[in-house]
Amino acid sequence: MRNKIHKSMMLILAVTLLLFYALLAMILYNRNISILESEVKQEAHYIQAAVNITGAEYLEQMGDADRNTRITWIGKDGEVFYDSEEDNESLENHSGRKEVREALANGEGEEVRMSDTLGEELYYYAVLLDDGSVLRVARSMDGLIRIAVGVFPVMAVLAVLMMLLALALATWQTKRLIKPINELNLEHPLDNDIYPELTPLLQAMDRQNKEKEAVSNMRKEFSANVSHELKTPLTSISGYAEIMKNGMVRPADIPVFSERIYKEARRLIHLVEDIIKLSKLDEESVELEKEDVNLYELTREVVSRLSPQASQKNIRMEVTGEPVMYKGIRQILDEMVYNICENAVKYNNDNGRVSVWVGDTLDGAKISVSDTGIGIPKEHQERIFERFYRVDKSHSKERGGTGLGLSIVKHGAILHGAKVTVESESGKGTRMEIHFPKEQQAETGGSTDGRS
Ligand code: ADP
Repeated sequence: MRNKIHKSMMLILAVTLLLFYALLAMILYNRNISILESEVKQEAHYIQAAVNITGAEYLEQMGDADRNTRITWIGKDGEVFYDSEEDNESLENHSGRKEVREALANGEGEEVRMSDTLGEELYYYAVLLDDGSVLRVARSMDGLIRIAVGVFPVMAVLAVLMMLLALALATWQTKRLIKPINELNLEHPLDNDIYPELTPLLQAMDRQNKEKEAVSNMRKEFSANVSHELKTPLTSISGYAEIMKNGMVRPADIPVFSERIYKEARRLIHLVEDIIKLSKLDEESVELEKEDVNLYELTREVVSRLSPQASQKNIRMEVTGEPVMYKGIRQILDEMVYNICENAVKYNNDNGRVSVWVGDTLDGAKISVSDTGIGIPKEHQERIFERFYRVDKSHSKERGGTGLGLSIVKHGAILHGAKVTVESESGKGTRMEIHFPKEQQAETGGSTDGRS
């Protein structure tokens, strides 16, 4: 940053100085040109007056009085009678020279051009004399260029001095600008009050900090919950096994105890399976390929897997709707639908009903699962997607819940860009819906109704 500021400051200064020099040289040159022109004209008029009065001898008398000025006397026909610099005999006819032609025609004429004779750029001014001949006065313009070039060393020294000064100023200014940035309080970005331009960056940092903190808290809470959830069934298993080992159980009761150990072990297996699924989703390390999945077929298959559980409580399950294709990860979609349908059975009443609808809507594919179960009180509806959150802990455990099912649903939905909604009324039932985004949908087939 420091280097960049230095470089840009130096560049701006160098360009400014260069422009300044060019402008100054131009102004000086133009100003001197007009001075030179008016001096040459004035001199020409003096000589004109003198020659008109005293005759051409005046020119001879002048001789080399002014080394800067070249004076030429030219006849009507262009013949050179006199030239202060050259031998007039050697000079060619001047009737073709612009300033001479103009003077002969209008009384005066001027031009700037390279002199063939002297090899430098001259300003020529010619006036008509009383006898019809022409007096021409010329002065070299090389002096003007020399003045402009002459300023260059002064300007160069000035430029170097100014560059050094600018470098010092830039170093000081950069330090002053950077110091507050180096002293930023990154732990509490919003407490910094330095440059308004940094506010969006600080706000983004604050957001990130909060997100990191939330994730870290969630991880801590999750680990604490996992340990607790694992410990409870393990304690039961160890307790039952110990009693059996000590021979404190009558042979007739052994099947009951074994059943309890088996149940707790199953619960542990479910729990560990759910934790593995969730951490895979969490790490976004899902390597499975997306494929075209018929959501209707998938739901029917899930429902048929749940039918033994449903029949135990005499719950009727039905699937209606139409085949709808969706590009997603089959295994995760299966887990999402399974968890929602399983909850609809688990938290249903005996002789209840679970109605599943799968189909396409204007907004995309949708799976809707309604049950006639115990419902979820309003105040819990937001929180049921949190890990290990259960409305009624003992009720959930008793029904084999791990408290992770809906967390898996939520993460699966995020992975697919889908949305999960809940509508529920305590004691009446619950409707959970998965809304898939439209753009990922594949072609759909015809309409079908099915029951299982
Ligand atoms: P669990 O393994 O306990 O079922 P979930 O994450 O699947 O965990 O669900 C969280 C909680 O949400 C459940 O413990 C239950 O209290 C409530 N819940 C989920 N689905 C339903 C439903 N269909 N009817 C009533 N309560 C439900």
